[in-house]
Amino acid sequence: MATMKALVKSEKARGLSMQKVDIPVITDEHEVLIKVKYASICGTDLHIYQWNEWSQNRIKTPQIAGHEFSGEVIGVGKAVKSVQIGDFVSAETHIPCGYCRLCRTGNMHICKNMKILGVDTNGIFAEYAKVPEVVLWKNAPELSQHFASVQEPLGNAVFTVTTGGVAGKSTLITGAGPIGLMAIQVAKALGAGPIIVSEVKDFRIDMALKNGADYVFNPTKEDVHQKIMRLTNGEGVEAALEMSGNEKALGLCIDALLPSGHISALGVFDKPFPIDINKVIFKNITLYGITGRKMFETWYIASSLLLNKRVDLNKIVTHLLPFEEWEKGFLLMEQGNCGKIVLKIAE
Ligand SMILES: [Zn+2]
Ligand SMILES: [Zn+2]
Repeated sequence: MATMKALVKSEKARGLSMQKVDIPVITDEHEVLIKVKYASICGTDLHIYQWNEWSQNRIKTPQIAGHEFSGEVIGVGKAVKSVQIGDFVSAETHIPCGYCRLCRTGNMHICKNMKILGVDTNGIFAEYAKVPEVVLWKNAPELSQHFASVQEPLGNAVFTVTTGGVAGKSTLITGAGPIGLMAIQVAKALGAGPIIVSEVKDFRIDMALKNGADYVFNPTKEDVHQKIMRLTNGEGVEAALEMSGNEKALGLCIDALLPSGHISALGVFDKPFPIDINKVIFKNITLYGITGRKMFETWYIASSLLLNKRVDLNKIVTHLLPFEEWEKGFLLMEQGNCGKIVLKIAE
């Protein structure tokens, strides 16, 4: 049987290992075989690498990691209709069942029987990968191949920014990691202003400014709430996007929001914590949880923003590394002195 290089979670411990494994074979008529070209590293992949509590409870070993990619279709199951051999594709990570109540009511992204690519199934940090047709996204040929792999997290940013609407609104973004940075560009493209960012790391403060934030404040050094009130005639921001998973940042969103405002919360928190729910109630705030991407509305918006050059991923992708240097990418992410990291798997 032919083999390929793949990044495998083989031990129930920190790390991943580059191994020779069998190339996947199509066994279901709805499956598609992909030759992977580019793959980007997500925070979820870092958690699997670090073997945090979440991954210990969720990941079965051995399993190939990774879910953000672009590549070429090289094989299709008998029933596949939407793609052909030679197509340039990426894929949604949330694999829906297609028949549960949520799938049948426009909520495939939170399917009751959902599997996540590279989390519950073998992923795409490999020369070849097998994915079900239902999650495939056909890329425009003119889209850059390494940016195409970043559409999945860009979709998270699009979902977060578009849910409450930001056009003509003062907008607070808490957290300027890669998806926070994408949210700055998307919010700007959709007409938000001023865009006020709160971030603690110097590298990311600098990145936030380069990505178009109007103001960036460091909550460990300044009173961000007071700064926001000064910038908004004492009224507060009209929209808030929580991208950090930090308890204080969510508190800031609630406090600094204009009554009747909207908070979209994408950041995932380590553990439950109390919030002053009466502030949410008496301020008439909408607190909206974001998970994944709307399938496939956000994919249409994300790819349109890229193709029409409304979003520039050159300002977000800081490293393009050969597949062999994968571990360098994970360590860079662990330090946080980087934007998005993309691995080049093959030509
Ligand atoms: Zn991801
Ligand atoms: Zn379902």
